[in-house]
Amino acid sequence: MHIHFKELAKRLGCSITIARSLADRSRELITNAGLGNNTPLLLVCDSVTYEALGKRLVKELDSPFLILNDTPYANMETVSFIRAKQAGALIAVGSGTINDLCKYASFLDNKPYAVFPTAPSMNGYCSANASITIHGHKQTLAAHLPKGVFCDLSVLAAAPTRLIQSGLGDSLCRPTAQADWLLSHLLFATSYDPLPFSLLAPYEQELFHHADKLIAGDTNIIKLLIITLLVSGFGMVIAGGSYPASQGEHLIAHTMEMQHGNALQEAYHGEQIGVTTLFMAGLQQQVLSKPLYLKKYANTDIQNAISGYFGRTLAKSVYDAYHKKHILYEKYDGINERLQKEDKAIRDALYRVTLHESVLRGVLQKAGAPTQAKNIGWNDKELVQAARYAKYIRDRFTFIDLIY
Ligand SMILES: [Zn+2]
Repeated sequence: MHIHFKELAKRLGCSITIARSLADRSRELITNAGLGNNTPLLLVCDSVTYEALGKRLVKELDSPFLILNDTPYANMETVSFIRAKQAGALIAVGSGTINDLCKYASFLDNKPYAVFPTAPSMNGYCSANASITIHGHKQTLAAHLPKGVFCDLSVLAAAPTRLIQSGLGDSLCRPTAQADWLLSHLLFATSYDPLPFSLLAPYEQELFHHADKLIAGDTNIIKLLIITLLVSGFGMVIAGGSYPASQGEHLIAHTMEMQHGNALQEAYHGEQIGVTTLFMAGLQQQVLSKPLYLKKYANTDIQNAISGYFGRTLAKSVYDAYHKKHILYEKYDGINERLQKEDKAIRDALYRVTLHESVLRGVLQKAGAPTQAKNIGWNDKELVQAARYAKYIRDRFTFIDLIY
């Protein structure tokens, strides 16, 4: 059964419009999304997105607006600042940060919000979570979906190149995330749902094939990218978690951030994910080239490894996060026995959802996006180390648990 993503969006109460231009249509779009009576509408932008699109929307909607300072940060202070304006509904005009801020502020006030994306840079427009920093810790918080996502392709195509490359990077991890999620399912019978991937399939191949056209401002390919990002968000809603879009490759990037934090703020999320996806794809190929086997480690060795790498302050919270996975050890013997018969069938099933590392690398290269650690301010040694310890930061079982 094939469901179109717009049909799915409608079922989830989110109206999607994607057009070459949305000039003069904002009033109609907002009314159709059911926000017409939630006055006053407050448009939230920063100085860059105000110029790119906000200015035009303010004129069209004749609404109050808020221009956040130059590089706004998705933290609780800014969320409170927006809530204090007491709007009837929020209209986010921007990408990752502004979307997260409006999503979370409106969620806390139980008010609706809609978004006019200004860059196809990440997959959070249609997710129900917001990434907000509280007391210096970046957290993924439950929030809600926007009532509307209105994409003006001429605006998206004019976004800074690095933001477009970043959106491609965040889309690249579909195969590595799918293989990780399926691995856990095939070994431990954890939940798995192919629907998020069958929704993406009609767009991915063409997007990857024509990735070079993204930076040439081709609106047809920009459209494929924004659809891929929106559908990836819906996939997380359907799955009830980020499983289909965030596995080993995200764990590695998060580990790098935890360990080397501030030095890396220059790189965008999707740029990091592009690089870690290549690493993860190589690692999956390596693991799949031999029979699978689950190896146990002594508890003291694990604790020493964690405190040695993450340091004493973080060691306890990392061990707590890992512990849920550690208790899977009791199933290892049974699984290793089963693998003696089923190993080939399991590896074949996993192979089928992957794309070769060289193919993924080619996609990034076509779009001029970073492919190497050094392109984004990392070094190879730190990356290899982070990959080794990334299995400890979350209870998600991935291919990382099968190496080292
Ligand atoms: Zn991501």
